[in-house]
Amino acid sequence: MHREARRLKSAGRRAARAGVPRTLRLAEWLAILVAAGGRCAHCRQQVADLTLDHVLPLSQDGPHAASNIVAACEGCNRRRNRAAHQWFWGGWPA
Ligand SMILES: [Zn+2]
Repeated sequence: MHREARRLKSAGRRAARAGVPRTLRLAEWLAILVAAGGRCAHCRQQVADLTLDHVLPLSQDGPHAASNIVAACEGCNRRRNRAAHQWFWGGWPA
């Protein structure tokens, strides 16, 4: 689990730089990972390595809190932009 602790730490540093509230704890992030069951929250692909993704991006004052965090594959995380998140919240295509 050291890898996840490191991931949480670097995400926390980004959040600190963005000046947003930070409440996410390691146990919460691990629970999000368990709930994801290895699937990306955006594309639903089963991937070996899920990354921490802020639903409302830090750049838009999204809090670093469990309610604003999903587990996403690296591809989706890199494409983090408003459109992708709106698509995500708008529901899945049939
Ligand atoms: Zn994905």
